[in-house]
Amino acid sequence: MFQNDTIAAIATGMTNSGIGIIRISGEGAFDVIDRIYQSKKGKKVLSEQPSHTVHYGMIVDGDHIIDEVLVLMMKGPNSYTAEDTVEIDTHGGSYVMQRILDTVIKNGARLAQPGEFTKRAFLNGRIDLSQAESVMDVISAKNEFALSNSVNHLQGALYEKIKNLREMILHETAFIESALDDPEHYSLDSYPQQLSLIVDKLINNTQKLIKTAANGKILSEGITTVIVGKPNAGKSSLLNALIGEEKAIVTDIAGTTRDVLEQQLRLDGLILNLIDTAGIRQTVDTVEKIGVDRAIASVDKADLIIFLVDGSIPLEEEDIKILEYIKDKKVICILNKSDLDFVVSKEDILKYLDAPVISISAKKQEGIDSLSSYIKDMFIRKEIDYNDEVFITNARHEQALRDTLSSLELVKSSIEQNMPEDFFSIDLMNAYDSLGNIIGESTSEDLVDEIFSKFCMGK
Ligand code: GDP
Repeated sequence: MFQNDTIAAIATGMTNSGIGIIRISGEGAFDVIDRIYQSKKGKKVLSEQPSHTVHYGMIVDGDHIIDEVLVLMMKGPNSYTAEDTVEIDTHGGSYVMQRILDTVIKNGARLAQPGEFTKRAFLNGRIDLSQAESVMDVISAKNEFALSNSVNHLQGALYEKIKNLREMILHETAFIESALDDPEHYSLDSYPQQLSLIVDKLINNTQKLIKTAANGKILSEGITTVIVGKPNAGKSSLLNALIGEEKAIVTDIAGTTRDVLEQQLRLDGLILNLIDTAGIRQTVDTVEKIGVDRAIASVDKADLIIFLVDGSIPLEEEDIKILEYIKDKKVICILNKSDLDFVVSKEDILKYLDAPVISISAKKQEGIDSLSSYIKDMFIRKEIDYNDEVFITNARHEQALRDTLSSLELVKSSIEQNMPEDFFSIDLMNAYDSLGNIIGESTSEDLVDEIFSKFCMGK
């Protein structure tokens, strides 16, 4: 069961906090804690205690008491790593945690690599690679969707789907191989037609998973959004209205939003990574020019452009210039200042741009609610029910699924071209391996190392 030597790390953050946890895992974890733990009466030996029990006492370095702690003992395989594991709950000061870690290391453990605890859980077969990766996704989740999707993966939802696809493929390749080896007992006569139907089903399921990736990324990481419009259109006011606090400077002097501000905004289940810009306009002011250039650059980087027009004054040359610059992008046009009399109409905009046009008053905070439903219409694929699907959010998984799809399409074309059956099985096995990459069953050691090296310390 034991993969390796005994490792240790601080599992909580390295800032001062109420509690800090030092984690120890491996064959010698219980020996290490026996050497440095002392109960109040000095008699308790932790390695003799039942698994999954908590013990109050002291961590000592020789005769010197370092801190009062609680120690959690977990006997493998019923632990995170599937190895004997000890967690020391200490006071969460960075010095005391480091001091305890040093003592643990002095007494027989070595410092863990980033991600090594989770890597061991994977290498010891407790979780597959997609589950291991979802641990980091749970930690970095920024909203409810990202969290529940990562927990879904952590519980093996993606693993199950991938396993089922692989079983179907293996069944067919096994049949082809047996028939080629033993033609007397297995006939391949009408087999290609039969395989064609199965491959269709495999292609369909793979495509479905790939399709979730676009939504998965948008729902978990957000939509990079820029707000553009000439000076005084009300960009800062809109941003403030959306954010609800005065983070951007609102002013009457044209061109005061000089820099590119970034804000993350949760809007009705969506995340908008908002960049407020200096507005696109020709200018001789050098400081402002920097802002304008960056604004143009951010239009190109953005998934969504919110184009703001001051509806209370006629469209100006600058508005038209921006309209022409953004006409091929995903745009929502906002006619702002609806509390004043409008001289610009929806039709005036639609002459230049095929996009939703909505009227709001940023100042009075009216009409802003409809923004999120327009954004959802633009970005969330309707054919996907985002309540119970497994969403692909990891680029590595998406690539592996695309590789799987290419191999399956090759099988399909080999069938159509009446190629010999061994052609089918080569591409089927490639598809099988690509799927295996997701769950870590045909993944190279280097890739596994690379994946875990991105983990944080103590995880
Ligand atoms: P920016 O240069 O595009 O960032 O524009 P600001 O947000 O700084 O707004 C410019 C001016 O327009 C300020 O005086 C705002 O108070 C005003 N303003 C913004 N939105 C509205 C609105 O909906 N109605 C009215 N009446 N004034 C607004």
